[in-house]
Amino acid sequence: MKLETVLDIVEPGAAWFWIRRQYLPDGPVCPTCGQIVTGDRALEAFARMDRTYCKCCGSNSPARAFVRQLRGTEWQPEEYCKLMLLHLCGLHPSYIAKLLGKSGQCVRDMLHRVEVLDQMIPLETGL
Ligand SMILES: [Zn+2]
Repeated sequence: MKLETVLDIVEPGAAWFWIRRQYLPDGPVCPTCGQIVTGDRALEAFARMDRTYCKCCGSNSPARAFVRQLRGTEWQPEEYCKLMLLHLCGLHPSYIAKLLGKSGQCVRDMLHRVEVLDQMIPLETGL
C-alpha cells in the first residue's frame, strides 16, 4: 500500500474529531477569555468546525482558533493529522512537505510549534 493511499483515509471530519479529543478533551476553551464553552448550539457549531460563540465573553471565534496548534495558521485539521502521522513514522520534514504539498519551512515551523506546545501541556494519549 502506498503512503498516499493511507493519507487519503484522513478526512476532515475524522481529523477534527481526533484533534478535539486529543487537545480539548474537556470541551472547547475560549481563546479570548479562557472559559470552557458551554451551550448546545455553541458545542454543535464547534463540532461542525463553524465559528463558535462564547457566552462568557461574547466572542465568536473560528473553531480552529480554539486549538493552539492551528490558531493563526493556514493548517487544516486533516493536514495537521497527516503531518502528525508522517512525523511519527519518522519521515524527514522535507519528504513530509512533498507529500502534503507544502513548503519544507512550513512543515518545520509547524513541527516546532507542536514541540513547544507539547512541552507546555503533556499529552495523555498517543496517536
Ligand atoms: Zn470567551
